Amino acid sequence: MNAAMSNKPRFAVIGAGIGGLALAGLLSRAGAKVRVYEQAAAFQRIGAGIQMGPNAMRVLRALGLEPLLRRLAFYPPAWANRVWDTGEFLFELTYGAESEARYGAPYLLMHRGDLHAALFSAVPAEAIAYQKKLVDLTRTASGVTLRFADGSSAEADAVIGADGVHSRVREILLGPERPKFTGQVAHRTVFPSALIKGITVDTCTKWWGPDRHIVIYPVNPARTEIYFVTSVPDPSWDVESWSAKGDMAEVLAAFVGFHAEVQRVLEACPQVNKWALFERDPLPRWADGPVVLLGDACHPMTPYMAQGAANALEDAAVLSRCIAAADGGDIADAFRRFEATRLERTARIQLTSRQNTWGKERIDPGWVYGYDAWATPIADARAAAE
Ligand SMILES: Cc1cc2nc3c(=O)[nH]c(=O)nc-3n(C[C@H](O)[C@H](O)[C@H](O)COP(=O)(O)OP(=O)(O)OC[C@H]3O[C@@H](n4cnc5c(N)ncnc54)[C@H](O)[C@@H]3O)c2cc1C
Repeated sequence: MNAAMSNKPRFAVIGAGIGGLALAGLLSRAGAKVRVYEQAAAFQRIGAGIQMGPNAMRVLRALGLEPLLRRLAFYPPAWANRVWDTGEFLFELTYGAESEARYGAPYLLMHRGDLHAALFSAVPAEAIAYQKKLVDLTRTASGVTLRFADGSSAEADAVIGADGVHSRVREILLGPERPKFTGQVAHRTVFPSALIKGITVDTCTKWWGPDRHIVIYPVNPARTEIYFVTSVPDPSWDVESWSAKGDMAEVLAAFVGFHAEVQRVLEACPQVNKWALFERDPLPRWADGPVVLLGDACHPMTPYMAQGAANALEDAAVLSRCIAAADGGDIADAFRRFEATRLERTARIQLTSRQNTWGKERIDPGWVYGYDAWATPIADARAAAE
């Protein structure tokens, strides 16, 4: 290794989720030294769908993943918003070719496992360490020491906490404070569309009930797999685990009286997972010296605009730009500039998402989908701190 190589800062990314992998992929492509530490023992294909809007696809494009995802994903004509019982159409967010021409990138609906696997393929396998649950961070004269639950430790010059809504890095940086349980739970699952009798699911539809909703869409081009995700009041149940099973009888009971199309989908569904929905108020800061937060670790939001992962991807792109601009120099300043560039947008999306009105009435989604993380001006950290 030559001297220039060995002087490059070593970045540690905590969490191999959507944001952490995207950042690691972008930094690796730029020739940076990066290592990802993930608490899980291996990658798991989770049964869920995910929407990737044009703002997210621009980041995935830079990672070289767009052709693969276009092959794997469903290309919806629209996101239809309908009244829960009558089926009346409230408003349609137009996707497909019209939206792609406007934003210069597609809107795709995919299996979350396909997205996650694609992101893994963008990171060198040797850069990811599994079964490394971060328990502590200590600043040293030469950087940061990471300590893991298995008793091991590692050194880095800078640390990015991409460790999700219950972020340990956030806790170390800003003190203990649990994210807020919204009182709503999401049931979600992917299952074969062949099981559904009498109807064809060929677009994305959100069925709006008085205090609950369900979103249903295909996750592959042949529409052989269908995903649904609910939001149902259940204030006593705040468990957030991918393995927590829901009860289909409970889901059917929660959607009694919903339109026949919803009933057909629910009747066909063999099993479901149940997931408590958490969020936070916007945080005042995400960066402190050589440590910074990214994605759900700093701006967890309700899934009602389908923008949580998209914003983690935007973060990854902007942070990679700030790091590149620092050119191995002042990383703490790069982190502050990242925070200053991103805070206002993510706070606006968090607060808009919380209202759960997106698409219920006529809106122009341009401010969300039109955002280009590669072109947005990078803020001056000092100006933002004043
Ligand atoms: C029901 C539902 C539907 C959604 N639908 C959409 C959608 O359609 N579109 C969209 O854009 N977003 C959607 N989201 C939001 C999206 O899932 C999240 O915003 C996104 O996963 C955040 O990515 P992240 O990388 O910040 O965190 P995560 O993806 O949660 O990744 C965090 C990673 O860190 C690891 N980790 C945690 N703690 C530690 C530790 N101490 N040490 C080491 N590793 C650790 C975890 O194991 C995990 O791998 C949805 C969310 C929900 C709940």
